[in-house]
Amino acid sequence: MNTDLNTVTESFIQKYDLLGCIQCGRCTGGCPVTVRTNLNVRRIVYDSKNEEMLEDLSKLPEIWDCTTCNTCAVRCPKGLKPVEVLIALRNILVEEGVIQPTVRDALESIFREGNPWDKPRATRCDWMEGLDVRIVEPGEKVENLIFVCCTIAYDPKVQVIAQNFVKLLNKSGVDYGFIGESESCCASEAHHLGEEGLFEMMVEDNTELLNSYAAKRLVAISPHCYATFKNQYPGLKAEVIHYTHLLKELLDEKKLTISKECSEKIVFHDPCFLGKQNNVFDEPRFILNQVGGSELVEFERRRERSLCCEGGGGKMWVEGSETKAERLAETRVKDARELGATVLAVACPFCVLTLDDALKARGFEEEMRIAEILELIGPLVE
Ligand code: SF4
Ligand code: SF4
Repeated sequence: MNTDLNTVTESFIQKYDLLGCIQCGRCTGGCPVTVRTNLNVRRIVYDSKNEEMLEDLSKLPEIWDCTTCNTCAVRCPKGLKPVEVLIALRNILVEEGVIQPTVRDALESIFREGNPWDKPRATRCDWMEGLDVRIVEPGEKVENLIFVCCTIAYDPKVQVIAQNFVKLLNKSGVDYGFIGESESCCASEAHHLGEEGLFEMMVEDNTELLNSYAAKRLVAISPHCYATFKNQYPGLKAEVIHYTHLLKELLDEKKLTISKECSEKIVFHDPCFLGKQNNVFDEPRFILNQVGGSELVEFERRRERSLCCEGGGGKMWVEGSETKAERLAETRVKDARELGATVLAVACPFCVLTLDDALKARGFEEEMRIAEILELIGPLVE
């Protein structure tokens, strides 16, 4: 018997509490991607208890289909986190260097340039051009230190999110500051793609950088950065909040007023990393309810039961084993259309990208648009 392997396996079983699993199947029952793939997370949790199967399990193509939406963990009556078992299996492959070229490139780019998009660090702030943005230096005191996110910083389709946030921050008079070029990836995707070594290194470097500011709060624009800083950066001194917390506060305190009306029928899509993972459900709805002239309607699958858009878990870089069944984002835009919504509002850059793609694939552009809350609210505040 291999003692080393026993030790590894024992810690694997303990780390993920695999003996606590009662095989009820609620994880698989709630898993949104089961309609598109062979992924059976209950089965994988069961098989992972067998030390000799870990290597083979790591080679199953469907472990890359998981979007890390967290539904399985939310539904598990025994408090297990099946999603983390899948990430650990990905880690086995990453350690062996057996990864898809797109995943390898994203991970190398995080290491080299501090973002997964293979973009130069020097252009991280290009989106700020023409805007009056306050950038703070380490050591400087600031109430709200804003963390932009790599995708928002570099992808022209979602830069508008940060640009609107700057305008709102300036109008509100709140004390804020951006990090600028030294901002580096929060490494959420490195973790979800199974690159634990890189993730740990980024956590250490980012903690040092972020703690070098005298910041009271760290305000993440993307729910992916928010979830990561909040739950996986134990050494951060600042309180971690999402921008919807700050925006709600500014509206509450009348530092901002949504004064222009907009006659839209709005439906809000709860992003997994904000809702299911961190129970932030009310703030986005509070903000959207302030939009005069509009009507806020709800999906049947909302809040904890919200349907995943398939944008998380590194899926932007992974070739999955999905069948041709309809993408979940397409199901979501169809559901929104059935409600008669003219705006499908989101609070996450990945949701914007996946849902906008789905909207175009379905040919619904004439009837509906995808709008991030900041993009929607920005022009309505005078
Ligand atoms: S929901 Fe939890 S207890 Fe039930 S099968 Fe899945 S992991 Fe096991
Ligand atoms: S995190 Fe979501 S996609 Fe992944 S196994 Fe759990 S329920 Fe399925």
